[in-house]
Amino acid sequence: MSDPRFPRLFSPLVLRGVALKNRILSTGHDTNLAAGGLVNERLVAYHRARAAGGAGLIIVQVSGVHETARYTSHLLMATADEAIPGYRKLAETCHAFGCKVFAQLFHPGREIMESQDGSLPVAYAPSAAPNERFHVMPAPMPLGLVEEIVAGYASAAGRMVKAGIDGVEIVASHGYLPAQFLNPRLNRREDRYGGSFDNRLRFLRETIAGIRSVVGEERVVGLRISGAELDHDGLTATEVLEACKALSADGVLDYYNVVAGSSASLAGAIHIVPPMAINTGYVAPFAAAVKAVVSKPVIVAGRINQPQIAEQILASGQADLCAMTRAMICDPEMPSKAAAGRLDDIRACIGCNQACIGHFHLGYGISCIQHPETGRELDYGRPIPAERKKRVLVAGGGPAGMKAAAVAAARGHDVTLYEASGRLGGQALLAQQLPGRAEFGGIVTNLTREMELAGVKVVRNAAVDLSLLQKEKPDAVVLATGARPYRPAFEGAESAHVVDVWQLLKEEANVGSSVLVADWRCDWIGLGVAERLARAGCRVRLAVAGYVAGQRIQQYVRDQWHGTLHKLGVEIIPYARLYGADGNTVYLQHMSSGEPIVCEGVDTLVLALGHEQESRLADEVAGWPGEIHRIGDCVAPRTAEEAVLEGLKAGSAI
Ligand code: SF4
Repeated sequence: MSDPRFPRLFSPLVLRGVALKNRILSTGHDTNLAAGGLVNERLVAYHRARAAGGAGLIIVQVSGVHETARYTSHLLMATADEAIPGYRKLAETCHAFGCKVFAQLFHPGREIMESQDGSLPVAYAPSAAPNERFHVMPAPMPLGLVEEIVAGYASAAGRMVKAGIDGVEIVASHGYLPAQFLNPRLNRREDRYGGSFDNRLRFLRETIAGIRSVVGEERVVGLRISGAELDHDGLTATEVLEACKALSADGVLDYYNVVAGSSASLAGAIHIVPPMAINTGYVAPFAAAVKAVVSKPVIVAGRINQPQIAEQILASGQADLCAMTRAMICDPEMPSKAAAGRLDDIRACIGCNQACIGHFHLGYGISCIQHPETGRELDYGRPIPAERKKRVLVAGGGPAGMKAAAVAAARGHDVTLYEASGRLGGQALLAQQLPGRAEFGGIVTNLTREMELAGVKVVRNAAVDLSLLQKEKPDAVVLATGARPYRPAFEGAESAHVVDVWQLLKEEANVGSSVLVADWRCDWIGLGVAERLARAGCRVRLAVAGYVAGQRIQQYVRDQWHGTLHKLGVEIIPYARLYGADGNTVYLQHMSSGEPIVCEGVDTLVLALGHEQESRLADEVAGWPGEIHRIGDCVAPRTAEEAVLEGLKAGSAI
């Protein structure tokens, strides 16, 4: 019996012959967890955690249907029978928890992100239309290649049947190959696959028919499509609806999985994994539009991070199932917690994009900044009970200390956390002050709850020192004292009005009407402070010590922010290191030429020059004979991700 607040979310749904136990699914998303193009133990363990946590359906990440589909070096491939055992293991593992499994069949066309060996591969597309995001000019597909790829989808589907997969999904979303055929601005072919609407739809129709002929009448065949590609030359909502209507009339597909955006451009790609600055559930109107023209169930994705939002979408009739992918990257047990009414225990995804899609784009296995166990299920999947109960003292109530405390207590230790200030959260409390980043504070809420559930005792307004250790005599100490702003000396600093970003975010400093932000970090802080000051009416110059503002952060977050700053008229100066100041003049130095960049009329110079470790306690207790773990920024300043991960490691090691 599920919580009565979610009557629709936990109602079953039958897709063709496949019965789903609820309306919550994990959609296909790249993980970089597999190896050699095949499903492996690491990927199975990752999905096992979501199946065990109550997901009704898992759609496995894209699998290439042809050699020309290799768009990253980590792509799963379904072009040979060696793919079958891994998928079989994955299906059997998830089935044991009553969770169904579909596979995504994929060809990216011109959307080639990465090379296999450093040399540029040949990308094929319906016509020679350049990709803006990856700077790919594809070769037009010879007719024989089109036919080979259509046949490749069917062969791949046959392998999935042999593996015991419950259904397959054709990825026509985000400007990938089927969408390129549909798009009259990208498809300028003069053969039977180009020109008229029916000709442009032919590729998809033949693909769908080929798959159905192989998988038979029992298994599910679905389509993933962007309700609109939200791109300057992407498919429009009208074009997508026309295609869905025609495919629905054909009567072969069993569901439509609606997302938004396109891989092809910076603006379109933001919607592949929409960051926290974008509203939750914002794709639902696109799903509703598709639902109005098709006769089969519709899935919707896009920042549905809480069961309440999912239930609301289902209740409104905009969709029939909700894709809650990051919600389960962040909390694999979200469905079972929701079903049990344990809503306060759900660790809600905050849309930071840092360790999930952020890791993927950097070529690493996906994880979550709030739940570093994700992607590391083989090592940290289940907490191992402590062999001997210890008294653990944690110094510092930022994300590192909170995670260490929660994990150690969950393993059975007696844990007390001391926080020097009156509030838990450390730098996360400042990060949430940046525009569009209020949700970042969720990390504090979630870790606070994890500590409560684990039974951690918290002492606020209590700084730890050697005398406290001598008095308490803990068996183990965790030092998580964080960092403070780094303020290097520079020429003329005393002649100018200089503040640092902490002072600004704590509202401890005033600024003039013309501000220059010196941004060494090239991350969220410079972008956010620039936006905040521009919205306050300041003239803002953002001088970044890198190629581009936000260079070090996930690209969808960065690109969305650049659009905002552009609209606000923020001037961005790249390749610029702070050199000095003289009254109202700030001197920068071009990082390549070494030449000066002179900025006049600056009322306030805002320093975003990073942090330095807060090591006073570590120095004071250096001779402490007992077990000591030092984690997070007090080791070396980094981000919340490393803080929480090191908290997990320390909490697991005690
Ligand atoms: Fe959500 Fe951020 Fe975790 Fe990704 S890393 S799942 S966006 S909280």
